[in-house]
Amino acid sequence: MGRAFVYVILGGGVAAGYAALEFVRRNGDSRDKLCIISDEQARSLLLLCLLSFNSCSVAPYERPALSKGFLLPQGAPRLPEFHTCVGANDELLTKEWYSKHGIVLVLGTRVTSADVRRKTISYKTLIVATGARALKLEEFGVSGSDVRNVCYLRNLGDADKLVDVMGSCPGGKAVVVGGGYIGMECAAALVTNKINVTMVFPGKHCMNRIFTPKIAEFYERYYTSKGVIFVKEASVTSMEVSAGKVTAVMLGDGRRLTADMVVVGVGARANTGLFEGQLVMEKGGIKVNGQMQASDASVYAVGDVAAFPVKLFGGDVRRLEHVDCARRTARHAVAAILDATGSVGDIDYLPFFYSRLFSLSWQLYGDNAGEAVHFGDLAPGDGATPKFGAYWVREGRIAGAFIEGGSRQENESIAATVRHGAAVPDVPELRRRGLAFATQA
Ligand code: FAD
Ligand code: NDP
Repeated sequence: MGRAFVYVILGGGVAAGYAALEFVRRNGDSRDKLCIISDEQARSLLLLCLLSFNSCSVAPYERPALSKGFLLPQGAPRLPEFHTCVGANDELLTKEWYSKHGIVLVLGTRVTSADVRRKTISYKTLIVATGARALKLEEFGVSGSDVRNVCYLRNLGDADKLVDVMGSCPGGKAVVVGGGYIGMECAAALVTNKINVTMVFPGKHCMNRIFTPKIAEFYERYYTSKGVIFVKEASVTSMEVSAGKVTAVMLGDGRRLTADMVVVGVGARANTGLFEGQLVMEKGGIKVNGQMQASDASVYAVGDVAAFPVKLFGGDVRRLEHVDCARRTARHAVAAILDATGSVGDIDYLPFFYSRLFSLSWQLYGDNAGEAVHFGDLAPGDGATPKFGAYWVREGRIAGAFIEGGSRQENESIAATVRHGAAVPDVPELRRRGLAFATQA
């Protein structure tokens, strides 16, 4: 690069955008102090990129939009509409915003090595915000996923490809591999685009690691009513490829699912590669303290790549691949870095997860560990708006809570109940009171 900066953010995703805004709010003009390096590019402009290098590189944006609004058949938002920090109802940080505040964006650039001790990138403080990458089917021994009609979804280039592929097979058949976040959100988007969906995953039910069987049953019933077919406890063993396209997906039990397109969401891995052997790692990420500071004091890590102590869970170290965590850890790291008086304490984070599927919307706060106590109507009649949820009770206290269809006030009450670890002296009483336990606390 040939230039020295006081602060360098490595990675230009959600956390980078929120960190930049926090720098400006706390530091004023960041002229020549802060640089963000990112390799992210939009795919549809790839040819143009060759002619005009910078035109396809993208400033930080709200990644969650890619599996939701971006995939809508009509009125889908496009950049610059969803740059950070609009997801938190805050300023829209376009390239012009960075330039106005003197922040140097080095876009379309992949960092291939970083030596923390010798500081091959020149900085006083490095913030690692490299996020995560999508796992490939090849990592499960299935080859052929690099063809035209197989889609992963991690970045804008992937989302552009998915939109193109959906457009190439109206009324066709999609196999969605994976029943997690990507699988569920993309299946909903595919149906909305009038594509027939079969979902294949190894678990007994969708969202295996988040939903209770009862909660999963609700969403599976809902999806089935939209025409989605579930193939559970199944794994993909190979794909039939003809003329550069997948035509069928083969399952371990010998079943063959014909496909016009395939969407794969089989998990993610944190992008820690640059720092393996240099920084202490835990839970698949860079281990940091409550100030988001890594084992080398000049390095901070935020977002998907950071494994940090969650006070609410007794300091248990967690790595959370979710947007609220990226936003908050980024802001906290900047506050800690710029703290001249030592007044910034350790992060006190309430884990928060959410998804929007068709017209449904759920939120989960805290930990889904302990005894699950469901509330509300998990089998509402036709046309009724669903509202239900669950508390998780551990050692006599609320450790986590889930709610589908909550109003803003109900969601806030649920969050507060988890945040305070409300005491549950009597589980049957909690079951009887249901949502009112949180809203009338
Ligand atoms: P990212 O946003 O992934 O940014 C990492 C950046 O680092 C990228 O720009 C990448 O290109 C860059 N980078 C990595 N390595 C290098 C390198 N060597 N050199 C240069 N640049 C590099 N979470 C929710 O809570 N709710 C949702 O609804 C939701 N929806 C999602 C939908 C999709 C499709 C995806 C993929 C994720 C979604 N998430 C959601 C998760 C959320 O987006 C992530 O937790 C969040 O983006 C993490 O922010 P980050 O900055 O840590 O990483
Ligand atoms: P998830 O971990 O959510 O889900 C992975 C899914 O793939 C699970 O259903 C898992 O099943 C299944 N799976 C694992 N191995 C195989 C296999 N070999 N064949 C078929 N299925 C398999 O990851 P995603 O890919 O859905 O999401 C990637 C990242 O994007 C995550 O960081 C996620 O947090 C983020 N994201 C978040 C969203 C949100 O918060 N709303 C929305 C979209 C993405 P099992 O569990 O049974 O092992």
